[in-house]
Amino acid sequence: MANDKQPSSPDETPVIDNQAILEGLPASVFFQAVEHSPVAISITDLQANILYSNRAFTKETGYQASEVLGRNESVLSNRNTPRLVYDALWGRLKQRKPWSGVLVNRRKDGKRYLAELMVAPVLNDDNEPIHYLGMHRDVTELYSLEQRVQNQKAMIEKAVNAANVAIVLLDEEQQIVLDNLAYKTLATDMAPQEPSHVILRAIQDEMGERLETIRERGVGFSNFEISLDVGRNHVQRWFSIDGSMIEIGDESADAFFAQPTRRYLMLVINDVTELRKRQHTERMNALQLLIAEEEALQSMREALNGALYQFQRPLNLMNAAVRMLEQRKGDEQAITEQVIGALREAIAAGNDAHDTLERAVPREHPGVKSSINMNELLRNVLELSTAQLLKHGILVDWHPPLHMPALIGYESRLHSLFKQLVDNAIEAMAASSSSRRELSLVARVEGGDIVVTVSDTGPGVPEENRTRVFEPFFSTKPHTNQGAGYGMGLTIVQEIVAEHLGTVHIDPLYQEGCRVCVHLPLGSGRK
Ligand code: FAD
Repeated sequence: MANDKQPSSPDETPVIDNQAILEGLPASVFFQAVEHSPVAISITDLQANILYSNRAFTKETGYQASEVLGRNESVLSNRNTPRLVYDALWGRLKQRKPWSGVLVNRRKDGKRYLAELMVAPVLNDDNEPIHYLGMHRDVTELYSLEQRVQNQKAMIEKAVNAANVAIVLLDEEQQIVLDNLAYKTLATDMAPQEPSHVILRAIQDEMGERLETIRERGVGFSNFEISLDVGRNHVQRWFSIDGSMIEIGDESADAFFAQPTRRYLMLVINDVTELRKRQHTERMNALQLLIAEEEALQSMREALNGALYQFQRPLNLMNAAVRMLEQRKGDEQAITEQVIGALREAIAAGNDAHDTLERAVPREHPGVKSSINMNELLRNVLELSTAQLLKHGILVDWHPPLHMPALIGYESRLHSLFKQLVDNAIEAMAASSSSRRELSLVARVEGGDIVVTVSDTGPGVPEENRTRVFEPFFSTKPHTNQGAGYGMGLTIVQEIVAEHLGTVHIDPLYQEGCRVCVHLPLGSGRK
């Protein structure tokens, strides 16, 4: 007879409604199936007194069927499963619903094991429970494995979090799979930028390779150093980064037999700011000495070049006089020849003195090209000018970009270049009567160039002088004994820019003062 009672919810015990199956299979098949099932099965009355137990039950619990028949399931209780668990079990059975959970059971020999138990009511045709069905399996080993994995995970997380280096694991889509506390702190400092993305971009720029290629090579990289300007105040920090590839098995069901692996990139980011700061202070001291020396040499060069320039004039005059006298040779030939002879001697002596003076001009040695971080270089320049900026009450507007590709160039020459431009700006503003004194430094990458603009709010350069200011000895300033005012500053700026295959000009559109734009191509010297 077909049963038309259907379960009202999915977890309600299903009612067998396929009479054909029942008729086609003898009852003994059902019995044998239960008897030989590898899962421990028991059937109880409504008080949980055992009426039947299968072979697997005996194997699991150590009790023969004859030993448990008539006894309560509580014979298996170890007495330390919380009361709440049993209350939940009985609560569900009361509602005629199955329950599953884990209990601590005790075998006949007293040994404890974890039983994953599923109980369900056996309902009659009137949907009334007449028996309970219990099925359980030993999950002690599984639990201990799970526990071990959990413990190891907790230990790894603790160790990774305790590390004072930032660690982040990225998947193939550069999504964060795992990160530690130090990384989270860095991410907060750099918000809204994601540190790993900024770092990877810098690595790609520096290596000139796409990240996919680096990933495919599978070898990673080590001691990759970058400097980033972190936070709203653009605090410069240095990081040494190691990257390693980790292959991890796919956890999805599809991967169960195929075992494909995914390649993850682990970045270990070590903040080496303190170390760099110490090195920076030492470098700044050395640089200050170098610049002072360079400035002394430069003013000597300018003084000597100025003297040479002035020296040349009387020589030229004497040459002209000789030429005139030679043309007029006549009656007073003897006297004229004497004068010409004396003038020639004077010219020769003058030429000798000129050559000696010229040889005395210190030559310029640009040094060796190196990889230059423009942010750092400009920051150094500003740092060296701090006293002057403060003295003249000049506000500095300096927003370095988060990352700048390295420029290959002559570091001390580029220092002199920007120091000269900053000094010019300070001098122009100091001399001006305007109360608005602002120095703005902007560096950016444009096309294949690093473009640096130095803007001031001084009187500016009149249109007719915008090209001439780069000529040697062109100056609008009076000569002083301190060596300034020779008009060689911008000539040298142009020289240094040319050494780097770049260009320099004064922005004709800038109205608030003077803006000098320096373009330095990245291409020629890139690594
Ligand atoms: P109590 O929970 O205090 O119960 C005392 C008696 O009342 C027991 O005979 C209990 O079976 C019965 N009882 C309790 N609540 C009800 C209720 N609402 N309706 C009817 N009778 C109730 N426990 C285990 O520890 N390990 C097992 O492997 C296990 N298998 C089970 C399999 C089935 C099919 C069923 C129905 C129960 C099973 N139990 C099992 C639960 C077990 O019957 C006890 O409830 C439990 O062991 C707690 O023991 P206790 O001595 O504290 O009994």
